[in-house]
Amino acid sequence: MSDLLNVDNLTVRFEVKRGGGWGKKSYLYAVDDISFAVKKGETLAIVGESGSGKTTAALAVARLVKAHSGSVCLGGEDVLQTQDEDLRAFRQKVQFIFQDPYSSLNPRQRAEAIVREPLDSLSNKSAAEKTQIVEGLFQAVGLRPEQQRLFPHQFSGGQRQRIGIARALATQPELIICDEPVSALDVAVQAQILNLLRKLQKDFGLTYLFISHDLGVVQHMSDSIAVMYMGRIVEHADRMSLFTAPRHPYTQALLAGVPRLEVGKRQYEPISGEIPSPLSPPTGCHFHPRCKFATARCKAEKPALREIAPAHFSACHLNDEA
Ligand code: SF4
Repeated sequence: MSDLLNVDNLTVRFEVKRGGGWGKKSYLYAVDDISFAVKKGETLAIVGESGSGKTTAALAVARLVKAHSGSVCLGGEDVLQTQDEDLRAFRQKVQFIFQDPYSSLNPRQRAEAIVREPLDSLSNKSAAEKTQIVEGLFQAVGLRPEQQRLFPHQFSGGQRQRIGIARALATQPELIICDEPVSALDVAVQAQILNLLRKLQKDFGLTYLFISHDLGVVQHMSDSIAVMYMGRIVEHADRMSLFTAPRHPYTQALLAGVPRLEVGKRQYEPISGEIPSPLSPPTGCHFHPRCKFATARCKAEKPALREIAPAHFSACHLNDEA
């Protein structure tokens, strides 16, 4: 399967203050030189704690925040340079499913209008075609036709997320970015929504970029996983390799917190301490203040992301000793 999305050396930074001397600026690097690819019809999960940069990276891919440098190509087209009509066409190709089904739907719109909205703003289809598409989407996500007339508050949390999924599908996008799509839902409802996303992927050949803070959620949803910490990718591997042979201490700590882990043995210690302020990130390996294996080298030298097994990448000085 060929790559649908290629992200190379993507950096997103925000100016945080002026200081020092005239014209001197300071920046927070929310996304720091990351690269990844997503094959057509597959799911790449980006996992990390709050503040890791995973959502900012996804927003930059979708052109919803400005990238400082790097490139994003969708189907071979350079996304970051796209303008005008091409940008409108790009917006049809990339859609979001948001975290919170309570706040991401307009409470004053009926469900039918919410699902139809991307078609109204981005496509030139006739009213009859739009009606037909919306009917089909309600069926595809497991909602009844008469529910089109209801308002968001008349649905359960899981049903609201189904509306969000139907809305994301309306323009027949090539890439769907799922930003923590089940983290606001009960565990039982989470499973239903994850099953629905997998079924839709199979039925429509969808490609997902799946953002989550929870490795447990992505263990059944992903083909490959990139783990982010303070703006950098620290480990990247296919799902089986990452769950059975995690190499980075941060990934191992995240795995220790996964309940009902079905692959591999839970033999890692949970992560300790808080993620440091991104305004003054630790030197060298950003993870060193929380890593029990940290050495003087870790404090001084940034570890490169290196291939340590076929298609398995890790950024840790311990790899040099292995
Ligand atoms: Fe820990 Fe050092 Fe590896 Fe960073 S480079 S994860 S501090 S051992």
